[in-house]
Amino acid sequence: MNAPAQIQALISEAPAGATRLREIPYNYTSFSDREIVIRLLGEDAWRLLDDLRSARQTGRSARMLYEVLGDIWVVRRNPYLQEDMLDNPKRRQDLIDALHHRLQEVDKRRKIIEAAEGKDDETVAQAKQRNANVEALLQAATKAVEDFSAEFRASWDLRKRATKVLGRYTEKHNIKFDGMSRVTHVTDATDWRVEYPFVVLTPDSEDEMAGLVKGCIELGLTIIPRGGGTGYTGGAIPLTPMSAVINTEKLNILGAVEMTRLPGVERDYATIHSGAGVVTRRVADAAEAAGFVFAVDPTSADASCVGGNVAMNAGGKKAVLWGTALDNLASWRMVDPNGDWLEVTRLEHNLGKIHDAPLARFKLEWSHPGERGKPATPFKSEVLEIPGRQFRKEGLGKDVTDKFLAGLPGVQKEGCDGDCTPHQCV
Ligand SMILES: Cc1cc2nc3c(=O)[nH]c(=O)nc-3n(C[C@H](O)[C@H](O)[C@H](O)COP(=O)(O)OP(=O)(O)OC[C@H]3O[C@@H](n4cnc5c(N)ncnc54)[C@H](O)[C@@H]3O)c2cc1C
Repeated sequence: MNAPAQIQALISEAPAGATRLREIPYNYTSFSDREIVIRLLGEDAWRLLDDLRSARQTGRSARMLYEVLGDIWVVRRNPYLQEDMLDNPKRRQDLIDALHHRLQEVDKRRKIIEAAEGKDDETVAQAKQRNANVEALLQAATKAVEDFSAEFRASWDLRKRATKVLGRYTEKHNIKFDGMSRVTHVTDATDWRVEYPFVVLTPDSEDEMAGLVKGCIELGLTIIPRGGGTGYTGGAIPLTPMSAVINTEKLNILGAVEMTRLPGVERDYATIHSGAGVVTRRVADAAEAAGFVFAVDPTSADASCVGGNVAMNAGGKKAVLWGTALDNLASWRMVDPNGDWLEVTRLEHNLGKIHDAPLARFKLEWSHPGERGKPATPFKSEVLEIPGRQFRKEGLGKDVTDKFLAGLPGVQKEGCDGDCTPHQCV
């Protein structure tokens, strides 16, 4: 999605020599030139450039500077080019040398103009100021090129380390740095694009999840769980290049519909156990085949996943009758930010909308993950009691402004407090 062009700029007749909407080459991204300059050179640099431009004193030098920024930007925004640069140190060095060369040319021009200007009747003070501005811009640009160059080394080293650390918990082929994986996890249904993730993880089983969360924390990576990527709030979008997206698509174990005696409930009730990555429609189909209805029916059901439904507290047309995900959860397991398991079990489920229950009670039990294949060891438990009416504003199916949701872990948290696997009522 490109940043919208300013309407005034489009409708007004462009004066001869007017600034183009985008001057940085290859900038077909959702970032404006201003944002790119600020990102690469800093806020001061944009101000300096603006000053020079308003005095019509940039011309060829500015174009050369923009070319440098464009080259850096096109690589930063294209994981396939990054791959190529990482795999070809010689090509990378040629590019870095060319960027430095262009900046040297700008510097040469600055010196020539400075020498010429002394002979003009323009005030010396003005010329000095302009010269200082260009010098400051050159310094910022030189640093940007150096940072860009250093990034490849750092990225290479971190990839090696991440493969070692995360490889303790999952197969190597589930740790993905390739262009295709990173490109396909840069956005969700919003089509908002900010940063490519550093790595995409595709665990084979739920048991790997706790270790992966621990490993990502050790590596300093921001963790983003992801289901179908149909979210409309940008929750699955990396906002920092130091992000790990955990794709749950392989966590697709789906149990059968079972009549279960839920804790504190006096009769058996139909429930189904589902992995975080099960597509919502699969659960609805299973419920229907058993003669029941699965109440969580977002319009995105053919693509969204159950973990995403819980994290977003999704609902659909049936929410009017049976509520949203929150109302229909019997229990769910999640990995908390410490890399421990947290099991949340609804007690005395009212088998209806949660806000109709005078008090909603949840048992929370934390356990340290066991070594591969071994059971987890519980170390803490507590009961959370929340008045039912606290979950919703009067008359609302769900209150999207309330992310805290009375402190109930996992639900409506957009993946911010853990990775979820649910057990639902149908
Ligand atoms: C065409 C269309 C129609 C839609 N209709 C509806 C509708 O009727 N009702 C409705 O409520 N929404 C609707 N949505 C929004 C969206 O589909 C839902 O919010 C859905 O629940 C998101 O699920 P997902 O698996 O795609 O999640 P993603 O987009 O992958 O992720 C959404 C958020 O959940 C987090 N997350 C994902 N999986 C987990 C997990 N296992 N553990 C913890 N956090 C996790 C992510 O980090 C992110 O913050 C619609 C979207 C589209 C595109």
